[in-house]
Amino acid sequence: MNAAFPPLREELQGIEPYGAPQLDLPVQLNVNENPYGPSPEAAADIARSVGEAAASLNRYPDREFSELRAGLAAYLEGDGGTGITPEMVWAANGSNEVMLQLLQAFGGPGRVALSFAPTYSMYPEYARDTLTEWVAGHRADDFSLDLDAARDLVLEKQPTVVLLPSPNNPTGTALPPEAVTMLCEAAASYEPAGIVVVDEAYVEFRRTGTPSALELLPVHRNLVVTRTMSKAFALAGARLGYLAADPAICDAIRVVRLPYHLSAVTQATALAALRHAPELLGKVEELRVERDATVAWLREQGFEVADSDANFALFGRFADRHAVWQGMVDRGVLIRETGPDGWLRVSIGTAAEMAAFRQALLETVQDTP
Ligand code: PMP
Repeated sequence: MNAAFPPLREELQGIEPYGAPQLDLPVQLNVNENPYGPSPEAAADIARSVGEAAASLNRYPDREFSELRAGLAAYLEGDGGTGITPEMVWAANGSNEVMLQLLQAFGGPGRVALSFAPTYSMYPEYARDTLTEWVAGHRADDFSLDLDAARDLVLEKQPTVVLLPSPNNPTGTALPPEAVTMLCEAAASYEPAGIVVVDEAYVEFRRTGTPSALELLPVHRNLVVTRTMSKAFALAGARLGYLAADPAICDAIRVVRLPYHLSAVTQATALAALRHAPELLGKVEELRVERDATVAWLREQGFEVADSDANFALFGRFADRHAVWQGMVDRGVLIRETGPDGWLRVSIGTAAEMAAFRQALLETVQDTP
């Protein structure tokens, strides 16, 4: 066999697959998971529902996942949405897959996808994998968006997909509704018009007064709001992400989705989880309090911390962040080396995990030059 085996696309050669180091440490605060598992009642209902689905696994699942779409629409109605119908909802295996499908349908050769760095590092991968040109504008020093500059960049590059995480990962920064409105209007002003995807993976953790972009759906036809059950719902292992948008957008995605992409097991799990939504979401308030306490404590210690509406905090700055990350690992605490150089990200865990984080960080910075 010659050196060019397997025949990987040239631009993919030598690229490391995306993913945080998976180290088996006692305190895992690196991938923004919910530290609390489903309640025993929710876990039992999920198991029962999956058991029922198992009896007919010889059949393909409901390709349109109609019951799940209705359940998700009802949930969104209770969390900032108005007039969300099942035809406005689409779901896939994690919001990563939802967004990849959006790029498959609305990106492609000769088209542009645009976001503002620092931002979620999977976005350029969706663009790469769909042969879409990737353009990254910049955020201000406090990680907010300069709205005029953002609009000018959209008008200049005319992307068919604008990706706006709110709250942003890895900074935790939420966008004001004016930003969403301005960029939806800008993206609607050229041909072909762009869609504006507000990625609300962490939105349930938002601070009081921070709205969801769902409120703007009735106003902007080109707005797409994506969500996930991986974070606030404590269901990362189930892989269920979804979006709300104009029914024409959901219809267009049906062209690129794989047949029966959402398994009967996934649908049964997600439906059971929705029945237990209040319990599963029950720890969100506790995590928000812990987040605000963590941000305040880090600031008291003299660190810079980005304002966070999410279940994590970005803090710094360190001359050698890798040394600090390693020092934390040595003390059994796994955080994430991500974002702009000099910064580290910690996911919000239980009170005991955050106490371990604080202790390890104090020791580490004492030992790290
Ligand atoms: N968007 C953002 C901003 C994220 O941080 C993540 C997960 N890290 C996702 C989307 C995807 O999550 P999932 O595929 O689990 O829904």
